[in-house]
Amino acid sequence: MSEVDPDQLDQLLALQDTDSRRRRLQHQLDDLPEQQLLIEAQQRIGEIERQHEDLRVALDRAGARQRQLEREVDVLTQRRDAERLRLYDGTVANARELKAVEAEIETTERRIEEHEEQLLEALEEVESLQAQLTGLETAQATERTRVEELTTSRDASAKEIIAEQAELDTTRDRQAADIDAGLLQRYEQAVTRAGGGVGVGKLDGQSCTACRVELSRADVGELYAGPPLTTCPQCRRLLVVPA
Ligand SMILES: [Zn+2]
Repeated sequence: MSEVDPDQLDQLLALQDTDSRRRRLQHQLDDLPEQQLLIEAQQRIGEIERQHEDLRVALDRAGARQRQLEREVDVLTQRRDAERLRLYDGTVANARELKAVEAEIETTERRIEEHEEQLLEALEEVESLQAQLTGLETAQATERTRVEELTTSRDASAKEIIAEQAELDTTRDRQAADIDAGLLQRYEQAVTRAGGGVGVGKLDGQSCTACRVELSRADVGELYAGPPLTTCPQCRRLLVVPA
């Protein structure tokens, strides 16, 4: 290639520097730490909502059981009271029948006790489930607050980066305008070949700043003897060889 003005090469390296900074900024924007934390917090909220739903179902069931047992205790109590009345209202005719009624009352009493024990257990279950629900609701509120905070923080970080990007874009336009079109095109092609990465390096001591590979003495000697803009023998990117 024809001789390139050393000033142009400095400008090209400055452009590369700007492009590298733009890439780092884009990477930062794509990979904001708050974003990952937000995803995690939202996953926890989802998990809490599932547990909440399960608990609600269990609570409905326990509540229904409690009401059923209360009704049964009522019915049994009424039955026992009615039997007791019969003992004294003169409808029981003889001692044998009296014994039968007394036995019936005893049986009913035992059933009432059993039902009351079950009712107590059901009440304890309802209470325990309600406490668990309250705990989950507190955890949910905490996570929601965290999501709000993280969103605010993420948006602020993004806004800062986007402002910085706009500034760098302006800088880049100015720098690119000062570079010869042919040279700029070679640079853009090198960037494309590098997958949008670094397109031009500079020989720094014995290594290329783009790939950081240390070159052999022979290579370095040849590079210094050659043109100020060449190709890195290692990474094939453009390489600026300082005078
Ligand atoms: Zn290289």
